[in-house]
Amino acid sequence: MTLLATQKQSQPKQVEPKPQRVQTPTPQPQQQTFDAEQHLADRKARADSGWVENPQLPGLRTIEINITELCNRTCSFCPRSDPAVYANQKLFMSKETASNLGRQLAEAKFDGEIHVTGFGEPMTHPRIVELIKAITFHWSDCIEVTTNGDRLETDARLINDLYAAGVSRLTIDSYDGAEQYQRYVHMMRHWPEDRWRIRNHYDDPDKDSDQLIAEYNFNNRAGNSAKGEVYENQCYLPFYKTMIDWNGNIVLCCNDWQRAAGTFGNIDMMTLSELWTADPLTNIRQQLAEGQRLGPACGKCNIQGTKFGQASFDLLTSEFV
Ligand code: SF4
Ligand code: SF4
Repeated sequence: MTLLATQKQSQPKQVEPKPQRVQTPTPQPQQQTFDAEQHLADRKARADSGWVENPQLPGLRTIEINITELCNRTCSFCPRSDPAVYANQKLFMSKETASNLGRQLAEAKFDGEIHVTGFGEPMTHPRIVELIKAITFHWSDCIEVTTNGDRLETDARLINDLYAAGVSRLTIDSYDGAEQYQRYVHMMRHWPEDRWRIRNHYDDPDKDSDQLIAEYNFNNRAGNSAKGEVYENQCYLPFYKTMIDWNGNIVLCCNDWQRAAGTFGNIDMMTLSELWTADPLTNIRQQLAEGQRLGPACGKCNIQGTKFGQASFDLLTSEFV
């Protein structure tokens, strides 16, 4: 018998204290309210921080991915409210494309964020959890998923599965009103509050789409919804952000719902690093740096354009001079 075993035998048996039951506080109606100002400040901080000078993806901070062309809703303020403008289609990002993206980001040492949102409702992708895993197998710094919350309410395991797959944060849009908002708060009560937020973007049937777009400060999606003054100034967006479509195509920006500005290569054919600094995107950046909003997307866009991404803009424009 070893000394250690002798000592162990001679010690009195320890009685484990009974674990305390953790009380989950019941959320009060006012406990979680969406703060638009805070949201914008948070976005700005995230867009303007991190390794902006990454030589493989200079300036890039946010990659939005459109994983499906489907949505289960037709909100009045969305381009999807008119099927002639935006048709519902059963088209989905493949696991191979998601895996390519994750691998490329790991190889490029990207330290920004992926936003799973785009032009469709991500939860209509039948294999969304596998898709997230295909990315996080390679790269998992920060993945945010935005959803209308409908499927989360009917599939209780899905929230857990998404977090387990590597989702950093869920943004849940409440479109139906205060009662749904509170249901969503209650649904999310088991998860830490820094892992989710709920936005109140109610599709109020008593207001028309132009009223709601103005109230929520939505932009006109490059001319695809809402009227209003078109800006004619610089736009920093393609300096700090890119958009990858369901089929791997790079789209100019997340506001170009029609892909009217064309596409800028495909990440299944070339790497994002190659495409991000290639001439087609660089040429558009140069125009936007000169305040020229040209073409069928930028020429109709009413986004202010310079709220986020100053550091990326400064870095990439230094190459023009
Ligand atoms: S706003 Fe979102 S949930 Fe509503 S129709 Fe558009 S994509 Fe679907
Ligand atoms: S001007 Fe509008 S459409 Fe063009 S890149 Fe900027 S946000 Fe996108």
